[in-house]
Amino acid sequence: AATQGGISLARIATIRATEATHFREARPKSEAAFGNGVKGFLDGVPMHWMNDWPTPFPIIVEKAKGTTITDIDGNKLADFCLGDTGSMFGHSPAPVAKAIRRQAKRGLTYMLPSEDALPLGELLASRFGLPHWQIATTATDANRFALRVARAITKRAKILVFNGCYHGAVDETMVRLRDGQPINRPGLAGEFRDLTQNTKIVEFNDLPALEAALADGDVACVITEPVLTNCCMVLPEPGFHEALRTITRRHGTLLLIDETHTISTGPGGYTRKYDLEPDLFVLGKPVAGGVPTSVWGMSAEVGERYDAYNRTREPGYSGMGTTLSANPLQFAAMRANLEEVMTEENYAHMEKLAGRLAAGLEESIARHNLPWHVQRVGARVEFICAPGPLKNGGEAEAAHASELEAAVHVALVNRGVLIAPFHNMMLISPETTKKQVDKLIAAFDDIAADLMA
Ligand code: PMP
Repeated sequence: AATQGGISLARIATIRATEATHFREARPKSEAAFGNGVKGFLDGVPMHWMNDWPTPFPIIVEKAKGTTITDIDGNKLADFCLGDTGSMFGHSPAPVAKAIRRQAKRGLTYMLPSEDALPLGELLASRFGLPHWQIATTATDANRFALRVARAITKRAKILVFNGCYHGAVDETMVRLRDGQPINRPGLAGEFRDLTQNTKIVEFNDLPALEAALADGDVACVITEPVLTNCCMVLPEPGFHEALRTITRRHGTLLLIDETHTISTGPGGYTRKYDLEPDLFVLGKPVAGGVPTSVWGMSAEVGERYDAYNRTREPGYSGMGTTLSANPLQFAAMRANLEEVMTEENYAHMEKLAGRLAAGLEESIARHNLPWHVQRVGARVEFICAPGPLKNGGEAEAAHASELEAAVHVALVNRGVLIAPFHNMMLISPETTKKQVDKLIAAFDDIAADLMA
């Protein structure tokens, strides 16, 4: 019989139906308000991703504080999704909330620096090890701008991505490998360009393919996460990052490290913990504690080359920056978050509980003889409904078990736990408690037993 992740599709369908019923029963008010979508919105939601949750309709949040989400029916959830990383440090961390309250009385956007902006450049430089910084609003934008600088100074059009990557809605990263051939990522709406013209793509952990792709000397920049976290979770093999750096340097290609998810590793990201040497660095989502903000930094050498480039560039719009970026609310929130929330002490707590979560899930998987595995990068934990470890994005795509994962996600919600949609990502924040972690492990174990029954 057909299976996903070792479970028969028939069993998965039964569980999905039962869990969907339980979900609805617990949410009469939400269903009345949202069961058929909300009038005035395209497809009934303010942003179409909200229809991609596996629940019968989106959870309507009354409030979220720390790691608890309360919906309008009064159901409380231990939140391990945390806005898919935007709230990785908990919902409304107290120092950030205080900074927002203070700034709220002083204006929200003026296209000028405020006093909170003054220490931020040096704070970012000492935290992440690169000397020159800019502030944007989304990780998408930060990646776009950093790639623009890479192309400007190398005078090369092409970039290289790893199969299975995600760096936000950056058009030129939307490429996939299918049967070894690059194609536009399936599903893109309104994309009329052949993105493979200027984007090369190889599998993660495939150094010979990387070497071959860069050998023509026409690639401006390799953009990658240090760990692929958007296609399940794929860790770099030992020596991968060292070789990536050596090979990119050999071919005059810059290296952009996108830490938006791997900031789960520590206060300075994976880059600081493992001494990576990126030319360009991007961090978005949680950097200002949930206020839409991103930062992008460049090395001293890139800074010098960009400066030289700018001296020869015709005056005019650079193609970078957006009107609301680098606003005083971002400065206030980011300063509070960097100084008071993204601390070694908080990360130690996150690391410890993430270890507990990963071990608990592994134990449960073993006890139920599931052909699954668990991966972790600091405070980010992922269970994958296939044997592992996975080596690259191609393997990760094959490991994806959409029906099974949807069933498990809704079953978790019905047991009081929320994890990220699309894959099986769980985040530990400074405010996550041991009790919440144990609740997640117990819920997972209960569902595993149900799947195997
Ligand atoms: N980079 C990475 C690694 C991401 O995971 C994401 C979002 N999942 C982004 C960039 C884009 O972030 P945003 O949607 O906030 O622009």
